[in-house]
Amino acid sequence: MQLVFRCPRCNHPQRADEVEKSPVVVCAGCGWDRPIAPSDIEAGRPTRCLVCGCNDLWRQKDFPQYLGLLMVGMGILFSTIAWAWMEPAIAIGILMGFALLDMVLFIVMPDVLVCYRCASRHRHASPLESHPKFNLEVHERYRQEAIRLDEAEKAAAKK
Ligand SMILES: [Zn+2]
Ligand SMILES: [Zn+2]
Repeated sequence: MQLVFRCPRCNHPQRADEVEKSPVVVCAGCGWDRPIAPSDIEAGRPTRCLVCGCNDLWRQKDFPQYLGLLMVGMGILFSTIAWAWMEPAIAIGILMGFALLDMVLFIVMPDVLVCYRCASRHRHASPLESHPKFNLEVHERYRQEAIRLDEAEKAAAKK
């Protein structure tokens, strides 16, 4: 399993490969670490976030959002050009081609487990089909919690 996260202490982006074989998650920047308990990983899959210990993870396609947007943009651009050349069949063909490519990529791309609290990404965990997808209510709960923590920190800093 590969772990992509931001260090909770120095905020640097970090990547750790084969975390299941290592007893700790370490930040190469500042030396922050968190031990991985045997119960944290079950059958090659994290039971909780390996960075912050949060129990809620959601499943997402490991598909960079900019790539999806770029493909949609290119599909529209090329088909508009074809329309301008009075080639509607080609224009529709181009749109359908991009839609198909998008679908194929979506099927081929693996899943990733994302932490609701710290957004760490747990890659190459298996198998994931049964894992719940994104839930707005849970997301909102963690967002509110982050706001409360932030306000509490600011209040503490003022004193
Ligand atoms: Zn660090
Ligand atoms: Zn986390």
